[in-house]
Amino acid sequence: MAEKHIEIKEVALNNNCPHCYNTKGLHLLFKQKIVETSFYKAITPEIKHELNCKTCDTAIYPEQWTDDIDRVVDYQKKVVDPKSPFTKLKALSWSLIIGGIALIGLSISLVVL
Ligand SMILES: [Zn+2]
Repeated sequence: MAEKHIEIKEVALNNNCPHCYNTKGLHLLFKQKIVETSFYKAITPEIKHELNCKTCDTAIYPEQWTDDIDRVVDYQKKVVDPKSPFTKLKALSWSLIIGGIALIGLSISLVVL
């Protein structure tokens, strides 16, 4: 079972980067977890976020966040609009289902005959 994350929102923050102090580098990224198998693909309600600075190319972890960054991230977490969770069957599942129905149909017609 493969776990993946899709990016659902990216927000540029005007806060100072704790590393390089640049105010134009911070980007907050929201990701939603998806699960993919050979049979189905599902979007889960699980959201994670990460903060990166594009100026110094560094991941900024919550321990390094200033109060200002905390506040902005809290706000963004409230306004982020996740995709609605859903499960989508893949072609392999459908062919099994259709194959199963065809088999049932076949056995019924054999019984009738
Ligand atoms: Zn930086």
